[in-house]
Amino acid sequence: MKPEVPIEVDAVSGEWSVDGIPMILVPRHFFLNNHLAIESALGLQKYSEILFEAGYKSAYVWCEKEAKTHGLKGVEVFHHYMNRLSQRGWGQFRVESVDPQRGHARVQVRHSVFAVQGKGKSCYMFRGWFPGALEFVGGKKLKLTSTEIQCEAEGHEHCVFETRPTR
Ligand SMILES: [Zn+2]
Repeated sequence: MKPEVPIEVDAVSGEWSVDGIPMILVPRHFFLNNHLAIESALGLQKYSEILFEAGYKSAYVWCEKEAKTHGLKGVEVFHHYMNRLSQRGWGQFRVESVDPQRGHARVQVRHSVFAVQGKGKSCYMFRGWFPGALEFVGGKKLKLTSTEIQCEAEGHEHCVFETRPTR
C-alpha cells in the first residue's frame, strides 16, 4: 500500500505537509529513542503529565484546522482524527463507542508504536489526544481525561483507552 494521506512537498523549502499542516517524516527508532530518553530522565509520571497537556492542545488545534479544511461537523471530526492517526502509522485506532454529549469514548489501538518495545502500559503519549479531540467536538462544555486501561505491551490483544469527564 501507498500512504493514504495526501502528502505535499514545498518545492522551495522542502517542507512536508498534509492538508496544509506541516509534517516531519522521521525514522521510528529515532522518535522512540528520544521518547524513552526523556521518560528515563523525567520519570514516567512527570513525563506522562507533560505529554497529556501537550497532546491535548495539539489534538484540539488539529481538529479545529481539519474540521475547517474538510467541512466536518460534530463527531465526524473525532472519527476523521482516529482515521488519520491510523493512516499516519501510530497504530490502528478503532472507535468502540463515542458520546460527545456525555464526554465518553472507548477506543481500541492495535499495533501501537509504543507497544513494540514497551513493558507495561506504554502508550501514554496518546492519552491527551482523545480528550483534546472530544472536547473540540463537544464545544468544551466538559473537561475530559483519558486512561489506557489495557496495553498490548502487557500481553493484551490490543490497547484500550477510555475517555470521561474529570468529575
Ligand atoms: Zn498500549
